[in-house]
Amino acid sequence: MELNFELEEIQYLVENLNFAQKVERSLNLIRNAYQEYGDKLVVANSLGKDSSVVWHLAKSVNPSIRGFIVTTRFKPKQTVEFMHRMVKIYPELKIYKNDEAIPEKLYQSDPDKCCFLLKVKPTREAIEDMHVNCWVTGLRCTEGRTRTNFREIEERDKGLIKLNPILLWYEREVWQYLALNNVPVNPMYALGYRSLGCEPCTIISAGEDERAGRWVGTSKNGGECGIHTNPLKSIPAKIRY
Ligand code: SF4
Repeated sequence: MELNFELEEIQYLVENLNFAQKVERSLNLIRNAYQEYGDKLVVANSLGKDSSVVWHLAKSVNPSIRGFIVTTRFKPKQTVEFMHRMVKIYPELKIYKNDEAIPEKLYQSDPDKCCFLLKVKPTREAIEDMHVNCWVTGLRCTEGRTRTNFREIEERDKGLIKLNPILLWYEREVWQYLALNNVPVNPMYALGYRSLGCEPCTIISAGEDERAGRWVGTSKNGGECGIHTNPLKSIPAKIRY
C-alpha cells in the first residue's frame, strides 16, 4: 500500500475533491486494505460521527468486517446507550474497557495519564486480542490543530497499518454522508456537542475549532487522547505505564 503523500498534496485533495470523489476514494482505501489484510483489518469505532461514517463505509465493503469500541467509566449515559444499541445491531463490534482502580479525579490532576490508562491501554488490548494488522479510524485532518500531520495510510507501529480513510473529509461532508445514508448517530450531537468524549472532559463549544470543547482549561484543550499518537504495538518497555 502507498504510504507517502506530501502534506501539500493532502491539502490539495481536501480542497479539490468533491464529496462523491471523497466517498469513492475512502471506499477504495478500505476495499484495497481489506483485500490485503482480510479479517485482520478491524475498525475502531469511537461512537462519534466520524466513526459512524467509517463503520458504514466498511460495512458496505464487506458486512463481515469486525470492529472494536473503547469505552471508559466516564462516558455520558447517551453514549453508553448508543453503544449498546450498536452492539446489538452489530455483535461483531467488541467492547474494551479498563476497570482498574485509578486515583480520584485523575482527569483533572493528570488527564494525559487518565487517557493513557482508560483509552490507550484498552486500544492496545483490542489490537492484540483481535490480532489486528490494520486498524481503521475516523481521523480527519480538517478536525483541528493536532490532526494536520497524518496520512491516509500510516505505519507508526511496525507491523500495524493504520488506515484513515476519511482523512480528507470536511465536517460538513461527514454530516452529508450520514444524512444521505440514514446512518444512526450518537444522540449527544442533538444536544449541541461537536466532538464527543468523556463527560468530565467535554463541553458544548461554538466557533471554528471542532475540538474546542475537549479538555477545556487544560494543556490538552482541543488535543488528543493519545490513541493516534502513542505506539500501539511492539511497545518499548520505557513508555509502558
Ligand atoms: S477524556 Fe477525560 S475522563 Fe476520559 S480518559 Fe481522558 S482524561 Fe480520563
